[in-house]
Order: sequence, then structure tokens, then C-alpha cells
Amino acid sequence: MGQLALSGVKKRFEKLEVIHGIDLDIRDGEFVVFVGPSGCGKSTLLRMICGLEEISEGDCTIDGVRVNDLPPVKRGIAMVFQSYALYPHMSVFENIAFPLRVEKLAEAEIKARVGRAAAVLQLENRLHQKPGNLSGGQRQRVAIGRAIVREPSIFLFDEPLSNLDAALRAEMRIELTALHQKLKATMIYVTHDQVEAMTMADRIVVLDGGSISQVGAPLELYHHPDNMFVAGFIGNPRMNFIPATCTAVTDAGATVALATGGAVTVPVAAGPALVGQALTLGIRPEHLSQGPGDVAVDVTPTVVERLGVNTVAYADLPGVGTVAALLPGAATVAPGVPARLSFGGADCHLFDAAGMALPRRAMTPAETA
Ligand code: ADP
Ligand code: MG
Repeated sequence: MGQLALSGVKKRFEKLEVIHGIDLDIRDGEFVVFVGPSGCGKSTLLRMICGLEEISEGDCTIDGVRVNDLPPVKRGIAMVFQSYALYPHMSVFENIAFPLRVEKLAEAEIKARVGRAAAVLQLENRLHQKPGNLSGGQRQRVAIGRAIVREPSIFLFDEPLSNLDAALRAEMRIELTALHQKLKATMIYVTHDQVEAMTMADRIVVLDGGSISQVGAPLELYHHPDNMFVAGFIGNPRMNFIPATCTAVTDAGATVALATGGAVTVPVAAGPALVGQALTLGIRPEHLSQGPGDVAVDVTPTVVERLGVNTVAYADLPGVGTVAALLPGAATVAPGVPARLSFGGADCHLFDAAGMALPRRAMTPAETA
């Protein structure tokens, strides 16, 4: 079992509060990713869960038992860090076996557990080697092996892939997802990288300045961000934001006049009080095109990135900032050459002055048919 609940969890360092009251339920077997920019409190939250950091206020329960006052080893948790912290003079076998030796397990049990972990991690042929002879990815697998042998009900990972190069990170993402499927244990994974969050998580917890900004499945966050922070954080290149003013509200949604010119109707649920309000329209780069659309922005790209499968064009618009468009690989855009980028109202998001998303309007019977 590996069910975890946080309720009203706060952290203060001296007088400075850095975690402001976290409520979160994590189901047994779930892969949950804490994501957010550097300094938002991801590591602190993880360290409170595993017992390396005291919880200033609130409760942490594991399988219904309050663990606030339990030492780390009694919580049934294993943590994997960014730095693998392997012992260079010990073999891979002994590095993996280390926590079991500390627990004084019998030799036969140690052999069996290390053997099972090595099989899961494909390290069977490396057990006699020293960490210095391994690649970065293999070393990280040894560190994970050291967590696996303890047979925890919950695994915690704090940016375990940050030290690896991009190709290896992509490979290890897939390995960790496969590992989760094999072990079926609860995993909580911390990263500042939204791609890792999107690709590995059953559910993502987006943290912003010590508070939860939104919790949801990856595509829920992508399609229905609750606020501008999540909208801007999830998705790459990030969502474009254009100042807008509401000019009319009808059954079809809210019509807004854009600071970049033109107007578009976004299918949100809103009342007449919205008319006249200053809003922000959000449109993802992948929803801009050089084809027809409900409305367009005229830009002169400053930078054009050719990625093969896609082309990304960036332009600066006065009063708006940088606008990015994710176009097909063969798109005919070039730096310094004016281009018209169109989009549809259905792909837009609207945010109020406080940065909160306006809810989508319910679909009409004709639309759901
Ligand atoms: P993240 O892992 O998301 O980058 P951290 O959890 O490490 O963020 O830090 C969250 C906040 O808490 C930061 O503002 C950081 O400076 C502060 N903090 C972390 N550890 C300590 C500490 N031991 N003493 C004082 N402040 C700390
Ligand atoms: Mg951290």
C-alpha cells in the first residue's frame, strides 16, 4: 500500500513561510509529478513527506497513519536524489545492497533483493563493477536500485534526471515510466521540466510560490488550465497572451477585441457584466496557422527555428511581447518578412484581470450530437 495524504501542510524556516498550506491526496500506485519553477517549494514538500524536513503545521498520513513524527526509515518511503551519491570504492552490488546492510538483513535475503532490483534495472552484468566505470544513466539506475531494494510503498524522486544530457533524459523518462508499470508502487516525482511532467505523470501538481496552482491529468492541464500561470507553464513553446477587451456576451460566448486588432468570440460561460472588462486572451503557438481563421495577428518574425518536423517563428509585438507560432516544417516564414497568423475562437482561452480562466460554456445539444 502507498496512499498518501497531505492536509494543511505548511513549512516555515524561522519566520519565513515557504509552503502555504498544501492539501493533496495521492492514490496507491499513482505516478504524481510536482512541477514548478525553481524555488517554488518542490524539494521542501518532498523532504517533509520523507521526513528529512520537519512539518511546521498540518498532517502527513501514509496509509491512514500520521507520520509527522516518524523518522524517515519508519515511513516506508525511499528517496532518489539528483546527485546519485554512490560510494566510488564499492561495487554496484554493494552500493545497491547498502541500505539492506544497514538494516542487517541476512545475506541470502540481500542477494535475492539486489538480484531482483538488478533484473528490473538491467544491471545484472554490472554488479561487480565500480560506479566509476558506468555511464551517467547506469549510475542513476544504481541509485534507483538502492531505493528499490528497500521495497518501499512510496518512491520519491527529486529531479533525478537533471544531471543527464538531453538524449539520456528522454531515455530515462521511458525507463522510469516502465519501472512504475512493473513495480506498481506510488511514485512522487519532482521536476522543473514540464516535458517530464507531461510525459510521465498520471497526475501533475503545479506549484507556484509554495501553493498548489492546479492539480490534474496532463491533458486536463493542457486543455483546461485554471489560470495564466498553469497556461504559461504547461506547453512548449509557451502560450501566447494578448490583451483584450470584452465587447459582447452571447450564448456563443464572449466576444473580445484584441490589442493586436480584430475581434473573436471565445466559447466561455459569462454574464453581461463581463462587457467592458479588460481580459487576456491565451492562444497556444500550435493553434496559430498561416491558413484561414476567425481572426489574425500580423507579425514580422525576428527569429525562425527550423526543427524539421516543425518550424517555430517568434515575433515581438508592441504592448504584447513575444508571440510564437508552431508551424509545419515547410512553412514559408522568414525573419524580417511580414506574416499573417490566424486562429480560431474555439482554441482560445480567456483570463480575467486576476489571471483566472473563464470557464468554458456548456456544449449545446447540437454540438454534442
Ligand atoms: P524547489 O525545489 O522548488 O526549487 P525549494 O523547496 O528548494 O524549491 O525551496 C523553496 C523555498 O524555500 C525557496 O525560497 C528556498 O530559498 C527556501 N528554502 C529552502 N530550504 C531552506 C532552508 N533550509 N532555510 C531557509 N530557506 C529555505
Ligand atoms: Mg529542488
